[in-house]
Amino acid sequence: MGGIETDGRTASSLRGLYAVGECASVGIHGANRLGSNSLAELCVFGKVAGNEASEFAAAATTSTQGVLEAQAEEACDNALRLIRDEKGDQRIGVLRSKMASAMEDGCGIYRTAGEMETGCRKIDELKERYERAHIDDRSRAWNTEWLLGIELGFQLDVAQAMVYSAINRKESRGSHQRIDGYEERDDENFLKHTLSCHRPAAPPEIRWGDVTITRSPPGTRAYGAAGEQAEKENAQRTDNG
Ligand SMILES: Cc1cc2nc3c(=O)[nH]c(=O)nc-3n(C[C@H](O)[C@H](O)[C@H](O)COP(=O)(O)OP(=O)(O)OC[C@H]3O[C@@H](n4cnc5c(N)ncnc54)[C@H](O)[C@@H]3O)c2cc1C
Repeated sequence: MGGIETDGRTASSLRGLYAVGECASVGIHGANRLGSNSLAELCVFGKVAGNEASEFAAAATTSTQGVLEAQAEEACDNALRLIRDEKGDQRIGVLRSKMASAMEDGCGIYRTAGEMETGCRKIDELKERYERAHIDDRSRAWNTEWLLGIELGFQLDVAQAMVYSAINRKESRGSHQRIDGYEERDDENFLKHTLSCHRPAAPPEIRWGDVTITRSPPGTRAYGAAGEQAEKENAQRTDNG
């Protein structure tokens, strides 16, 4: 399951940034999350994140205030660009619906290299077009078009991270199912976390991270008779290991 990479105490690689829940990947789920585990995760790691963040804040000095203010101004400027820029010719609604189709066609449950390549190209193109986004409503209060426009920029970043990560994984695991010759799980080459690193003016850089296995090794997820058989095999493997 994807999200901001964190350690077991919810700290990200950016000092002082803690992430938990749907936006985070603390590393406990593997390639697919079992039903109901997300709310349990939230309760456990939400408490950890709260404690860690408050301890960090209490110990932090104010020496970085100038840097933070500059960053906040930059973020503000990026958001305001959407309502200041009058030359844009790209509609938010059109870009948003094209992004949804590109991801549905290129990065759905069943995946092929060709479809994912097309998905990468389409998302790259939409990111370029987003630079020329146009918003009709220029007001600064209750402007839902502006809000959708801001969100769309981040959604395109996430879509790009997803499709570029998926195309690198030449195997099937969890909810990622290839149907073009890579139908099986390949622990030898892909028992790894995919790390997608943002680059401002280029597609993300894809790196790999180690997987820590504690109690539950990767196994087959199957149901009915096939599920019972897989459970027996997993139990045998655990006994032998
Ligand atoms: C249909 C469905 C059924 C599910 N069923 C189950 C289940 O049975 N059991 C289970 O364990 N899990 C279930 N889940 C998963 C679980 O609901 C989620 O993992 C969990 O709610 C995520 O919580 P969160 O706080 O991390 O994120 P969210 O609940 O998404 O909360 C994020 C909040 O941040 C706000 N926000 C976003 N951007 C900004 C911003 N820029 N500024 C300020 N606020 C912002 C959003 O409005 C939202 O309120 C289900 C999910 C869905 C969609």
